[in-house]
Amino acid sequence: AIDNVQLHNPQVNAFVAVEERQVLENLGSQSMQRHEQGTTLSPLDGAPIGIKDNFCTETLPTTCGSKILEGFISPYDATVVQRLKQAGAIIMGKTNMDEFGMGAANIYSHYGTVINPHDQEKENGNKRHVAGGSSGGSAAAVASGMCIAALGSDTGGSVRLPASYCGVVGYKPSYGRCSRYGLVTYANSLDTVGILAQDVNSARLVYDTISAYDSKDPTSMPNNLRTRIDDQDQKFVSRWHNKDDLTGLVIGIPQEYYVDPLSETVIDFWRQGIRFFKERGATIVPVSLPMTRFALPAYFTIALAEASSNLARYDGVRYGRRSQANREEDDEFLYADTRAEGFGSEVKRRIMLGTHILTAGTYDKNFLPAQKARRLVQEDFDKVFIQPNLLHHDEKMTDITENKGVHLLLTPSAMSPAPTIEECLPESDDSNDKRKEHHGAVDTYVNDVMTVPASLAGIPAISVPFEKSNGFPIGLQLLGQYGYDQFLLEIADIFS
Ligand code: GLN
Repeated sequence: AIDNVQLHNPQVNAFVAVEERQVLENLGSQSMQRHEQGTTLSPLDGAPIGIKDNFCTETLPTTCGSKILEGFISPYDATVVQRLKQAGAIIMGKTNMDEFGMGAANIYSHYGTVINPHDQEKENGNKRHVAGGSSGGSAAAVASGMCIAALGSDTGGSVRLPASYCGVVGYKPSYGRCSRYGLVTYANSLDTVGILAQDVNSARLVYDTISAYDSKDPTSMPNNLRTRIDDQDQKFVSRWHNKDDLTGLVIGIPQEYYVDPLSETVIDFWRQGIRFFKERGATIVPVSLPMTRFALPAYFTIALAEASSNLARYDGVRYGRRSQANREEDDEFLYADTRAEGFGSEVKRRIMLGTHILTAGTYDKNFLPAQKARRLVQEDFDKVFIQPNLLHHDEKMTDITENKGVHLLLTPSAMSPAPTIEECLPESDDSNDKRKEHHGAVDTYVNDVMTVPASLAGIPAISVPFEKSNGFPIGLQLLGQYGYDQFLLEIADIFS
């Protein structure tokens, strides 16, 4: 892993900070010793792991890909980082990301764009392919062997999209399964700790290590709910032992994901995925999730509103960088100058939109309807899954336990294989600019259409690398009912 960082990182730009070689080698030999003595701490003992730069770490800086946090060192480790260390995992370094998680191509990082490790063009400027975002550094680090797994964060697809572009596994557990304590907030009601890994089994090992109740995270799934859901989850896990016989498994294909701009290649691979399950005896049924069309606008309304509030903490007083402009004795100039200098253009755009959404008038017209749409998207999923949603289920709602529906859903993870940097740049003001045909700032948001519904509903979702098209991988996404994480991982393992 150390050699791969040295070899590939200058090209790929996956890590923004790497632990000292000496420290890594020491940790490595300590782990080797434990392996020899039969005193290993866990199956992850000695495993090289990358950490997205929005997880707090005591020893390496935590910048969230932003200039405003340049050089910031957190006084504590995020709970999930602590759990990995206790399991003997070796933290290789911090991975590049779109500033504060805002983006889908990893072109909005103060520390430069992440280049897709499958890219063959060495010196081709904007024609190079992106790794996807916002956890692009984590996906690229795993894809180029710099670590076997990496933590990412997934607010609206930031783990699944780069996983699809880079050809690795990208897993977003159910909301509340893994502690967010020490994960720097973008949109708190959507932010989820995510995992990128070389295969489903490695993703599962990381998940088993970091998934636990944490009293420091008020949205952590409490133990009594964990036990209740895990009992049900296990029943589904043990039902399909034989990898080659999936008889009885029902996979739903949501027709609303068959959107207009979906590339032909992706449609082909989606069909192949369907065939995979059919050949093993599973039943494939088309399903309808009619509220999907509200998912994107609802997501960008809620995420930006929450972001505008959460990012108010970067004022130059408490964290990170402070403007030296010293315009007046007035504090307001200190805040304004710090934020004007420290935030990148996309973050500013989103703070302004989010602030607007939360102002009187717009709040009723946009924010509340978005919350209602979110609930409708959630209910869509509850209607198609066989498993009841144990988060909302109470005695009065017994009709949702009806034994009709699907066990999992299968969709593409992204609309296309990895695009080039040029295709991802926001529209310029130049009316002759060719990019205008494809991608404006809003058009790039459309890329998240496959992934945001699961984020709004808080359900688990995993992108599994399926095939390569013209040298670039494509991922397919499996979605499960809220809390059924082990079942989802089990079937994803068979699928991969
Ligand atoms: N691309 C989406 C956004 O820009 C999702 C990002 C994420 O999941 N962090 O908000």
